[in-house]
Amino acid sequence: MSFLFNSFSGWKQYCLDHNISLYEAVIEYEIAQRGKEEQAIWDGLLAAYQVMRDAVETGLREEMTSRSGMINNGAKKVYKHPVAVLSPEFQKLISRALAAKEVNSCMGRVVAAPTAGASGILPGTLYTLQEIHRLSDRSILEGLLIGAGIALIIEEKASLAGAVGGCQAETGSAAAMAAGAMVHCLGGTVDQIFNAVAITIQCMLGLVCDPVAGLVEVPCVVRNASAAAIANSSAQIALADVSAVIPVDECVDAMGEIGASMESKYKETAMGGLAATLTGQDISKRVLIQDIEMLPDEDLPE
Ligand code: SF4
Repeated sequence: MSFLFNSFSGWKQYCLDHNISLYEAVIEYEIAQRGKEEQAIWDGLLAAYQVMRDAVETGLREEMTSRSGMINNGAKKVYKHPVAVLSPEFQKLISRALAAKEVNSCMGRVVAAPTAGASGILPGTLYTLQEIHRLSDRSILEGLLIGAGIALIIEEKASLAGAVGGCQAETGSAAAMAAGAMVHCLGGTVDQIFNAVAITIQCMLGLVCDPVAGLVEVPCVVRNASAAAIANSSAQIALADVSAVIPVDECVDAMGEIGASMESKYKETAMGGLAATLTGQDISKRVLIQDIEMLPDEDLPE
């Protein structure tokens, strides 16, 4: 019987009882619950990580303009800008998170980890971490398993979907997965990994889902960059053993409680927040007209 990923405290206790690491418990789960062979799990992880890396490269190399025009090669502009606000590494982190997400907004291939709307956060953070610290692929894949365990618990206790819990559930969960993965890759303890998750969730709580024109473009793309930055700050804080004070399971409970009480206009309906601004509504009308103009004549309304 493998651990069922219903709490962080339970995950830690299971690993202590069975003398295994956090990522090994996720492998056990995949084998027991999904009937996979261990080698197939590692092969699948490597394939997924390669898709993440490809998305980063594609977003920084190829034309990235969405049909609405709201996405227009932003990642490349950030990557090439002569002024690094903090450091060249931070500039790369931000541009890579933007790049992978722009690929998604332009209908390219990404890994929905945990959702397509948040698909730039793990690629941006892990690609950059691997480069800076010269980490092996194996280390990154272990980090991805840790991220998967984190996502399983958030899904069980709260939600991973913007339509259920707002953007905190999508970009917030992805940032939490990335922060935990990064702390693992840098040799952090179980408590430090969970602390990184708790700190990240504390920083992302309450974020609403308000996509302009119902398209996963604005503010989704820039939120991938900010979530990647928060994941890094949380990992840095957690590695120094600065306590989140509120335990990680309680942070996830708070995320669930906030998501449940959020009005539906902030849950992917494009009825509130940025989507409801004057400019947001103008863009929405223009996108609707574009869609009607693209319909074949027989599908047009009489
Ligand atoms: S705003 Fe909504 S659609 Fe966009 S990334 Fe956040 S949850 Fe997803």
